[in-house]
Amino acid sequence: MKPYDVLIIGGGPAGLAAAIYASRAGLSYALIEQGFPGGQVLNTAEVDNYPGFPEISGMDLGMKWMEHAQKLGMQQIMEEVTDLEVGEELKTVRTFGGEYVTKNILFCTGAAPRMLGVPGEERLRGKGVSYCATCDGAFFRNQKTAVIGGGDTAVSDALYLSALCQDVYLIHRRDQLRAADYLQKKVAEKNNIHILWNSQVREIQGEERVSAVLVDTEGQETRMDVNGVFVAGGIQPNSSLLKGKVDTDSAGYILTNEHMETSIRGVYAAGDVRKKFLRQIITAAADGAIAIESIVGTL
Ligand code: NAP
Repeated sequence: MKPYDVLIIGGGPAGLAAAIYASRAGLSYALIEQGFPGGQVLNTAEVDNYPGFPEISGMDLGMKWMEHAQKLGMQQIMEEVTDLEVGEELKTVRTFGGEYVTKNILFCTGAAPRMLGVPGEERLRGKGVSYCATCDGAFFRNQKTAVIGGGDTAVSDALYLSALCQDVYLIHRRDQLRAADYLQKKVAEKNNIHILWNSQVREIQGEERVSAVLVDTEGQETRMDVNGVFVAGGIQPNSSLLKGKVDTDSAGYILTNEHMETSIRGVYAAGDVRKKFLRQIITAAADGAIAIESIVGTL
């Protein structure tokens, strides 16, 4: 079988934008995504920083992206990639379902939530510990929840939960949030979001399900009764398939140049998985477009 011009791995904004550009450029390509395309944006309640959409849910925006890519003829392979072989000329992508040969690989695998690493977190995962407020928030209607972190995700999650839960405790290790100003302003308007500054969760407690968190605030420990804990302590790159094959930084983010080329010829990376200044939907999409234009230039 003829090799593809490019196989796009991952169907978030970077991968879907790449698919749109690949279709327009007439490339032979497929997008490999094990689940429903859309990426992390599907777990975002509300997006209000993507131009043209002053207010849209992450799910609706993700659906629009997918419909757009499909309308232009995107071919999707719905399988999980298990292994890659990156030869000088041709690359092989293996999945549970088969083997695909391609001239180029575009890695758009994004990032995933990072665990806190505190006692109780692993054991109570899915039993009150969650990494996605929009997925699991409804289980905590009229209950008390804690959100851990101070970035955009933590603050967006706290806002989303405040509409469902009785009380939301936003537990942050510093005295200043990292989240965008407009999100901070929205939080200040909510009576049922309580921010615990300079505070670290030491343990998540509960027998069958979460019942409390042990919080250390400047050396003083407090046990707070909560039914749910939403961990929003940042993300880590989904780059394990390329581990040891391309250059990364110490955290595993793939290093690319401004053409999205990695240290291996014919292997490109776009979106949250690569080392970059700003990880947002708009920059992921731009990366995907640039990567495809770079590939077009080599064919
Ligand atoms: P982030 O910006 O890295 O924030 C992680 C937060 O968790 C920080 O406040 C950090 O504290 C805290 N943290 C990290 N490790 C911790 C630990 N072990 N214990 C306690 N707290 C810990 O991650 P993010 O909020 O997931 O955002 C990731 C990227 O996605 C960002 O680029 C963000 O802008 C983007 N994003 C954008 C939107 C949007 O535009 N609507 C929504 C979600 C995410 P410190 O502040 O002290 O470091």
